[in-house]
Amino acid sequence: MKVISYGAAKTVTGSAHMLIIDDKKILIDCGLFQGVDEEQSEELGFDPKEVDAVLLTHAHIDHCGRIPMLVKYEFKGKIYCTRPTYELSRLMLLDTAKVMLEHYKSAMKRFQRGTLKDMPVEPLYDEDDVFNALEHFEPTFSYDKVFELLGLKITPKDAGHILGSCFYEIEYKGKKIVFSGDLGNKGKPIVKDFEHPSKADVVYCESTYGDRLHKSFEESKQELKEVLLNTLKHGNVLIPSYALERTQDILYILRELYEEKSLPKCRIFLDSPLAIGVTKVFLRNPEYFKKETYEIFKKEDPFYLPYLTMVRDIEESKQINDIQEGAIIIAGSGMLSGGRILHHIRHHAYREQNAIVFVGYQPRGTLGRRILEKQNPVFVMGEPIHIKAKIYTINGFSSHADQSELTEWITAADPQKICLIHGEEDKMIILKQKLGDRNVYIPSKKEAIDV
Ligand SMILES: [Zn+2]
Ligand SMILES: [Zn+2]
Repeated sequence: MKVISYGAAKTVTGSAHMLIIDDKKILIDCGLFQGVDEEQSEELGFDPKEVDAVLLTHAHIDHCGRIPMLVKYEFKGKIYCTRPTYELSRLMLLDTAKVMLEHYKSAMKRFQRGTLKDMPVEPLYDEDDVFNALEHFEPTFSYDKVFELLGLKITPKDAGHILGSCFYEIEYKGKKIVFSGDLGNKGKPIVKDFEHPSKADVVYCESTYGDRLHKSFEESKQELKEVLLNTLKHGNVLIPSYALERTQDILYILRELYEEKSLPKCRIFLDSPLAIGVTKVFLRNPEYFKKETYEIFKKEDPFYLPYLTMVRDIEESKQINDIQEGAIIIAGSGMLSGGRILHHIRHHAYREQNAIVFVGYQPRGTLGRRILEKQNPVFVMGEPIHIKAKIYTINGFSSHADQSELTEWITAADPQKICLIHGEEDKMIILKQKLGDRNVYIPSKKEAIDV
């Protein structure tokens, strides 16, 4: 058995790991590269015709974002995942196709005007490719139910990361290998905590936050409350948020603060058609919620509160620019790589009365990372913006496990070999040290690892 990582090797994006057993090839995830690695998305690095099946862990775009390319280049097999992963991937992939086309068109204009030197690369795929890819999805399995695929025994388990996320235990001739996908941090409001893997020989584990411990959700909720109390009287709070899971977590927390009467009177704008669509998928799949949230769901919508406006229309979105105080604006993209949040940054980031609250990971090369690293001015849509708004990071809202949770999860499998993936190398090295005597390896991209 061999594993070759075609992405998320010494970096966090582009997840794609090929398990090769005899003449069988099974791909675990096929995600887009983002941020500084974006250009690597153009080359898959393998022939999709030779891939027998795909096991998809979850619907984040760094895990599913290149699946339409597989099908475009004649992958004929099936893509296995949970029901929510299928429904969410559908939204995420259609949105990605749309965004890639918009970027291409605007880059083409700049190229024709002579303000862009190189001819832009065509979108990796279009909407039709997404619809073709969706035909290959098999949203059949449920957690902890073993299924057979090409002679392998596969057990998907709850990864506790986002709705429908799983990790895979794969058994072949008495040997077991586990692929973590992304693991969630514990105590999140909507999804359950991750399951532990059973005893395994080899573990491929993500390491996004291998270097640190998160604050608890409750502490993070209090931090958010403080920021809201301190800011809303004279300014607005911008929350760049991933449309999937993070936004629903934030809505859930705002609703809790409202119920507890600790949310100051304000207006909340969810300015993201994608996040609105994702929230609907959540409401269609409540059986994936943790018990407490499911109980709330039986009585009312856990993501709704009276101050909330769902903004679909772009004109309505622009009207938010005129509001000077008392608004919470939640918009994508989470890492400021595009989307409506950019307009809000342009209109609100130069005022010191306002606040920008980061609630998710900001990969290298993204505008979000540049703001966090205190670059000033930053360029937003080609325009220099002097950031005067206060910048906060609330890491406890992360949907990734921290160092102690990763260690706990790996230790449960007690493997002979651990391969760290999906992390920046300096963070992986810190996690490797934490794992002490264990046999830990950090694979490079396209390196064949015997497992
Ligand atoms: Zn993820
Ligand atoms: Zn990921």
